[in-house]
Amino acid sequence: MPPSHLTPAPNRPPGGAYLPRTRLRWPSRTAFLGLATLSGLLAGCRPAPPPPAPTPGVRIPFATSNGTQALAQVTVLCDLGPRDAGTPGGERAARWIANELRQAGLPARLDSFTNQTPSGPLICHNVLAEIPAATPEPSLAGRRRPALPVIVLLSHFDTKSGIAPDFIGANDGGSSTGLLLELARLLQRTPLRHCRVLCGFVDGEECRIQFGPHDGLHGSRRLASQLADSRQAVRAVILLDMIGDRDLTVTLPANGTPQLTLLALEAAKQVGARDQFRLADTNILDDHQPFLDAGFPAVDLIDFVYGSAPGLHDYWHTAQDTVDKLSATSLTTMGQVVAEMLGRLDTP
Ligand SMILES: [Zn+2]
Repeated sequence: MPPSHLTPAPNRPPGGAYLPRTRLRWPSRTAFLGLATLSGLLAGCRPAPPPPAPTPGVRIPFATSNGTQALAQVTVLCDLGPRDAGTPGGERAARWIANELRQAGLPARLDSFTNQTPSGPLICHNVLAEIPAATPEPSLAGRRRPALPVIVLLSHFDTKSGIAPDFIGANDGGSSTGLLLELARLLQRTPLRHCRVLCGFVDGEECRIQFGPHDGLHGSRRLASQLADSRQAVRAVILLDMIGDRDLTVTLPANGTPQLTLLALEAAKQVGARDQFRLADTNILDDHQPFLDAGFPAVDLIDFVYGSAPGLHDYWHTAQDTVDKLSATSLTTMGQVVAEMLGRLDTP
């Protein structure tokens, strides 16, 4: 859907109401200062914490070959055809993702559910795979202790309906799915020490008519609700969306947990990609919002400037969103940023 109106920062939608995705204004000094002030205030309220160690946890080796593999996965996924939620193509994509995960030795499962929407019932399929920590779950003489914290990595895989008969969403839904598959494989071989990682490939992100409590974000609302109901200790939710653009310009929306936003910037700096990350001074309605609404820390790594020239966004939700607009380099950069974030979050 086209952007409808701007949303001032840094407010959260009241009462869980959902605001439509918005076109961004470029980050203002206000946004930068807001975050800096907030962190300054936080630091001023109590003794200054020691600076974080560069990488206290496991170092996940995301190489250029992993970016190349991620792009290959995007290509295969797109070759399957449109993946609109509630269609055979959507279910085919979900089953393909689950199969890819299982072939890597991950215990993938489909969580199929039906949501009521303004245009009728919608059957969705989330694909979930949890990677346990390398450290065994603690136990005390038969007494259960709380499970280790979980970090949720998210990507939606569905395509928006009604764009074009062959709309494949190479960047929008495809790029993040290919990268998350590759991250899952890497984490399977190099698990974190202190945290579980839940890879959530969520369905039904796109709305059919207009974003609202019953239209769009179906898979993420489902997963956020499940995590809240099961009282999981969620350390962080990191959403990837539209992160394969050759001209990578990640725009961190105002509706994100400040500590995770700063962590993303630090990670980008660590991998030499800080100039490709910017702060947005607007909210973006995306799959991280239901997790924020549930009280979980969450951040959206999204490149919401996707077009034929710098600053243009004319490929978004058009038949132009094809694999040739993507690059393995961008996927490598994003993989390295997420790997760095995971390493820094992986503390006892
Ligand atoms: Zn979209």
